[in-house]
Amino acid sequence: MMSLNKKPINILLFIGIMIGVNTSIGTYSIAKDVQAQRKKMAQKSEVWKPVPALVTTFDGKAPSDATVLFNGEDLSAWQTLKGGEADWSLTDGSFTVNPGSGDIKTKQRFCDIQLHMEWKTPTEVKGLKGQQRNNSGIFLQQRYEIQILDSFNNPTYANGQAASVYKQSIPLVNVMRPAGQWQYYDIIYTAPRFDGTTLTNPAFVTVIHNGVLVQNHVKIQGKTEWIGSPSYEVHGCAPLQLQDHGNKVSFRNLWVRKLNTQNE
Ligand code: MG
Repeated sequence: MMSLNKKPINILLFIGIMIGVNTSIGTYSIAKDVQAQRKKMAQKSEVWKPVPALVTTFDGKAPSDATVLFNGEDLSAWQTLKGGEADWSLTDGSFTVNPGSGDIKTKQRFCDIQLHMEWKTPTEVKGLKGQQRNNSGIFLQQRYEIQILDSFNNPTYANGQAASVYKQSIPLVNVMRPAGQWQYYDIIYTAPRFDGTTLTNPAFVTVIHNGVLVQNHVKIQGKTEWIGSPSYEVHGCAPLQLQDHGNKVSFRNLWVRKLNTQNE
């Protein structure tokens, strides 16, 4: 009796297993098809070119694709506004404004850039206040000033303190270190566009001061003015310019990366 009862059960079990196996194979096969289809769909939104160029970086130094504006040795990348030899003073891998000698500018002209620059103001402040306390500045394309000033415990108009777009945009925060300490700016600048004599796109600037964002893609309103409202004048690629405001502000480790083919 026992063996007679077992046989049908075994047959049923066998059939059941076979159905299960076939179903699994079928399910597996469908899943594989779906996966292949999804992979094809995903590939439609893959972009393989252009391949970004490899850039090598070094701590505290210019990346491999940068134009070095000061290597700690000489001012060969710079000249006076009239094209003479830049005569700011060189000391210990940095250079310092020679008060009264005038602004200096790069020999090269630039349009859209990423700029890194380190600077420090003198510890000697002897009664200097506000805009007079060790002022300088970096003029993008010789026109648009990002202020350099000892703004550590030194009240002045906020749109003229360090890291302001001078007289146009107040920095989001004050990241100043005390006088005598090295500070740095990382600046991302998009030059204005002109069609003939018409401005088609204003300039924009992002400034990072000592690693902190202080100007976030700010629209530049025009050429920096001390008095009155800024406005645009038509121009092409142009040098970077450092301001001699009569104070011994120092600079080191300046480099720039060109961000488009308009640069010359
Ligand atoms: Mg200035």
